[in-house]
Amino acid sequence: MSDKKIHLKIITPEKIVFENDVDSITAQGVNGSFGILPDHIPFMAALDVDTAEVLKDGNKIIFSIIGGAFQFKQNEAIILTEAAEISSDIDAQRAKLAKERAEASLSSAQTPRDVKIANAAIARAMARLKAASKN
Ligand code: ATP
Repeated sequence: MSDKKIHLKIITPEKIVFENDVDSITAQGVNGSFGILPDHIPFMAALDVDTAEVLKDGNKIIFSIIGGAFQFKQNEAIILTEAAEISSDIDAQRAKLAKERAEASLSSAQTPRDVKIANAAIARAMARLKAASKN
């Protein structure tokens, strides 16, 4: 593995969820998944509501990422997202209940807006369950 690192920051409106030097980043863009190694060319992507995987000193760290944007330039990477959790901090039972509530809302949705809100909540819960299951 190269000695070069990527300085990654994962930032939400509430806090910096993660800031460290890492060896690689794999994330899910709205147009598909992508991987970044040190010295990659400058890159930007809109992020899906899904997971991201980071390799650090041979250890895999998994995050749920609730959409947002990814930017990489000169071995500095930023994930700016509505919410993100490191997989070990995810409360899977909470996510399961959130998914059940959102599914119930979806089945009683009256307007396209209700459908959109319920589907977004389901996507958030599924991203968290996926990240927690990889823990
Ligand atoms: P819930 O209905 O359970 O609150 P939500 O999708 O509405 O889920 P968000 O609004 O996306 O929750 O997030 C609110 C805050 O709670 C954020 O800080 C987020 O990181 C945290 N969070 C949400 N769900 C979980 C979870 N299952 N485990 C740990 N943290 C969570």
